[in-house]
Amino acid sequence: MSDNGTSFPIVRLRKRRALPFYARHPWVFAGAIAAAPRDLPPGAVVRLHSAEDEFIAYGLYNPTSNIRVRLYSWDPDVPPGEALWRDRVQQAVAFRKTLFGPDWSGRGVRAVYSESDGLSGLTVDCYDRHALVQWTSRALWEHREPILAALDDTLQPQTVWIRTEKGIREAEGLELADGPLRGRPPRPVFIEEHGVRFGVDVTEGQKTGFYLDQRDNRLAAARYMAGRRVLDLFCYTGGFGLTALKAGAARQVLAVDSSASAVEVARANAELNELADRFHIEQADVTAFLGRLIERGERFDAVILDPPKYARSRAGVPRAVKAYVKLNTTALKVLDAGGILVTCSCSGLVDRSQFFEILAAAAREADRTVRVLEQRGAAADHPVATTCVETDYLKCFIAHVE
Ligand code: SAH
Repeated sequence: MSDNGTSFPIVRLRKRRALPFYARHPWVFAGAIAAAPRDLPPGAVVRLHSAEDEFIAYGLYNPTSNIRVRLYSWDPDVPPGEALWRDRVQQAVAFRKTLFGPDWSGRGVRAVYSESDGLSGLTVDCYDRHALVQWTSRALWEHREPILAALDDTLQPQTVWIRTEKGIREAEGLELADGPLRGRPPRPVFIEEHGVRFGVDVTEGQKTGFYLDQRDNRLAAARYMAGRRVLDLFCYTGGFGLTALKAGAARQVLAVDSSASAVEVARANAELNELADRFHIEQADVTAFLGRLIERGERFDAVILDPPKYARSRAGVPRAVKAYVKLNTTALKVLDAGGILVTCSCSGLVDRSQFFEILAAAAREADRTVRVLEQRGAAADHPVATTCVETDYLKCFIAHVE
């Protein structure tokens, strides 16, 4: 940069709002901003300055989003651009290679995880040789060409497909549909995790087709499952239940999900692993299903609870907490003495200590003695950034219940 980046437009913060950004949190909400040039297009590179006009960081501007600026570089000599994108993609992929080795064929790997990889607004999952890219930032989308080129060079995927998240059109003004960037991945793509094979519907399935964040929690849970009769609630394509059977020698699994397509894939996955005789699955609403189990007086040796995100906004947290308490209380009622409860929450707005309180409240409500054995998070290819606590969204507690 011959002009040392000083030519970029300046977004100035309001007084006393700079601290989080000196601490490198990447989201600058509209409410923190005192002044920004008019008519900046989405994706414009901007300098974020304090109210005292000190340079803090470079970011990308989006006039539509409540996250008005996303920050990418705190080095005044390194504004966002091709070199920076390439560097971040390469670092993200290099780190995953330290986890999974150089060859990811037959694996599912989160190659790029947004804020945790210094690429706020971009997630890339790889299944076998197929890349699924998800943009959650309109501003970063404007920089897609150099980013995709860097992904191509580092990952060399056979196909590249766009997945979108619900609500992004409204939140970010990003008019994007699922579809091919290059080629078309097979349906399903096959991956293996802890010796269990899964077919993954990467174009139509939830998220990018699979919940990669739960990879190691499935194995951790399986270690407690030997000989047990397991109830796998919100099973999606069978991740926890099939791992409990194959890696954990569980006796039998009853799995439940409300999604017909998930149930279909889960059944196929049970067949694929020759576990169909011990894996029973039903398409049902979990609340209604639990009600029927309680009526029939059924009991299990282990219950897995992995519900969808209950809290989508701060205002929704109290309701979500109530729903979690109710779900966990009901689950405790179908658990035998000496049972194992694996309970998860992927609501980032409900933090770890709050989730602990939820479990404690459920234990009181159900009048059971619950001891937490493991408090876990997402797998290491979804690292938690100390600068962005929102990346610590997944809680998975494994507990012993008397
Ligand atoms: N445990 C899964 C991931 C679960 S994601 C795994 O290891 O891969 C949450 C799942 O809950 C989704 O599959 C969704 O279809 C299902 N779901 C959401 N609401 C539900 C409800 N009320 N009853 C049953 N399943 C539900």
